[in-house]
Amino acid sequence: MDRAEHAGKLFIISGPSGAGKGTICKRLVEETKVEISVSMTTRNPRPGEIDGVSYYFTSKEEFCREIEADGFLEHAEVYGNYYGTPKAKVIEKLSQGIDVVLEIDIQGALHVKTAYPDGIFIFILPPSMAELRKRITGRGSETEEAINLRLSQTLKEVSYIDKYDYCVVNGELEEAVARVKAIVVAEHSRVSQNIYKLIEQYKEEV
Ligand code: ADP
Ligand code: 5GP
Repeated sequence: MDRAEHAGKLFIISGPSGAGKGTICKRLVEETKVEISVSMTTRNPRPGEIDGVSYYFTSKEEFCREIEADGFLEHAEVYGNYYGTPKAKVIEKLSQGIDVVLEIDIQGALHVKTAYPDGIFIFILPPSMAELRKRITGRGSETEEAINLRLSQTLKEVSYIDKYDYCVVNGELEEAVARVKAIVVAEHSRVSQNIYKLIEQYKEEV
């Protein structure tokens, strides 16, 4: 994907399971104009999750057909399930000037970085491992074994932090949401092609 073709910005949010990515993304969507990309997954829905809103829940066969049809911007296997970002919708939104946020795992984020190096990569960290365990346990959707697997992955995941542009520690939720919103605003103030166009207009006016 070529940045010049797309007016919207692509934000990629990753971090350990339970760090609060979903919670922060929900607030971002509610409180800004950023739109979230709904991923496709082969995992079973958790209580309260809605098909087409939380994820597009699908079978492994359907997921594989989508891979063959080159329908994903990226896809990855995470904790034994498949997850993928539907490509066409993301490209359509970006070309309409809409900012898009992908809440995806680190493998997926690294793939996006290759395809779209101008993406803005944000890593969400928990304030401590004890708090992370508490949050995953509190969510009540994983078995003890699944929780331990997610916690053991965390140290491996944080070793990729240098591939990201920003890091936000999600201790107090309001503070973390404010920081992520500030990143979105700051990224829209970067010196860019649009600014050069504005300067050209100044020259014409003078
Ligand atoms: P992730 O999407 O990273 O797996 P979630 O957004 O599902 O994480 O959050 C995991 C749990 O932690 C949820 O129950 C959520 O309500 C809670 N949570 C998220 N952020 C905070 C925070 N700053 N303080 C306390 N609890 C939080
Ligand atoms: P969960 O099952 O807890 O919703 O998500 C598990 C992990 O999969 C999280 O790290 C989440 O960010 C990641 N994930 C969700 N959607 C996608 C996706 O489309 N692509 C990739 N690569 N990871 C995803």
